[in-house]
Amino acid sequence: MAKVLIIGAGGVGAVVVHKCAQVPDVFSEIILASRTLSKCEKIKKAVKEIEGVDIKIETVDADKVPEMVALIKKHKPNLVINVALPYQDLTIMDACLETGVNYLDTANYEPPDVAHFEYSWQWAYQDKFKQKGIMALLGCGFDPGVSNVYCAYAQKHYYDSIKTIDVLDCNAGSHGKAFATNFNPEINIREITQVVRHWEKGKWIETPAIIEEGSVHFMFDYPEVGLKDSYLLYHEEEESLVKNIKGLQRIRFWMTFGQQYLTHLKVLQNVGMTRIDEVEYEGKKVVPIKFLKSVLPEPASLGEGYSGKTVIGCVFDGEKGGQRVRKYIYNICDHAECYKEIRAQAISYTTGVPTMIGAMLMLKGIWKGAGVFNMEQMDPDPMMDLLGKYGLPWIVKDFNGILPE
Ligand code: NDP
Repeated sequence: MAKVLIIGAGGVGAVVVHKCAQVPDVFSEIILASRTLSKCEKIKKAVKEIEGVDIKIETVDADKVPEMVALIKKHKPNLVINVALPYQDLTIMDACLETGVNYLDTANYEPPDVAHFEYSWQWAYQDKFKQKGIMALLGCGFDPGVSNVYCAYAQKHYYDSIKTIDVLDCNAGSHGKAFATNFNPEINIREITQVVRHWEKGKWIETPAIIEEGSVHFMFDYPEVGLKDSYLLYHEEEESLVKNIKGLQRIRFWMTFGQQYLTHLKVLQNVGMTRIDEVEYEGKKVVPIKFLKSVLPEPASLGEGYSGKTVIGCVFDGEKGGQRVRKYIYNICDHAECYKEIRAQAISYTTGVPTMIGAMLMLKGIWKGAGVFNMEQMDPDPMMDLLGKYGLPWIVKDFNGILPE
């Protein structure tokens, strides 16, 4: 029996609340807090209708440590789940430190004024969390999250040494909008307009951003959905996996993008709408990407009518007992099924389900420790055992496909 405080009432937040409400013997009390109360109210109503569970709601500006501290002191949760934005990671971690409460998130810290994300800011909390005897679990969504757990599982069960990892993230769904992002538009666009990096033989190699000339992409044959153009993209789990998977020689991350999406993105970039600095507009300061976010569809609104599937997984190449072994571990998730269950689309769903499972494993003391941890540092078996039960079954098979050299 535990009390959980969830910060962020967006697409992912809604899924986490529903999924926690489905396990009342673990999550006996749920408090959802976010910046906009009406979004919390909407989720509260849906959770009552679908799960028959009452939750408490609050407003909070999680950028402000004293507000977060007061909220934690008021409700005394056993765990704070941060599914707001990466900008709030450090302030929420500070509040957890001050109050001695465990912390979990799904995306690493990113300063608002620089489009750059990395773990160093959160890893710097290692000693403070250790001294306080509390735990921070970072990146507990799907990718990062389950992708890291797949790696730890492959390492534990199939390999003496993994030489290469390719994370392949495919959304073959259709939401019917001309242009929309499946998670927070500001964070998403900042991520995918960056110069790409992947890691090979001990160093980071840069290649052009996905919308630039010379971007690296290839057709991958995904299970059930077929051939999709997959673009090399930098993703945060690469940073922790190169440290924690010993002997790794290369890691790459690929994501599918359609031509319509890329064309819209290119135009938005070319006209300056993806800028993250302030511009003067009629005497006011406006950040173009924040304005753009305000006119794009909310990720939580995309579920209705979304058809098709996501296929996200990892391909491994390495050795066991002197033999070459190639494995592919993946999940297939259906947008319409997610909507039927909890009115969500599959990107929010595939993120929120592992968040709930990670929270459950922490609250039960199955995943424990003092300090700051990435997902692959935990025993992967308990999460792998629960993923299917809560909606994200996985498949493992020998891989005979083709990847770029
Ligand atoms: P949304 O934009 O739908 O939701 C974000 C929510 O956070 C909004 O309700 C927003 O409030 C709230 N919020 C923003 N700033 C604050 C603040 N200062 N104080 C309190 N609440 C705040 O995004 P998503 O739900 O799609 O994404 C949530 C997180 O999940 C992101 O960090 C994203 O990067 C991460 N993610 C991780 C994935 C993974 O696999 N690891 C995949 C997908 C997403 P308001 O409504 O007022 O703006």
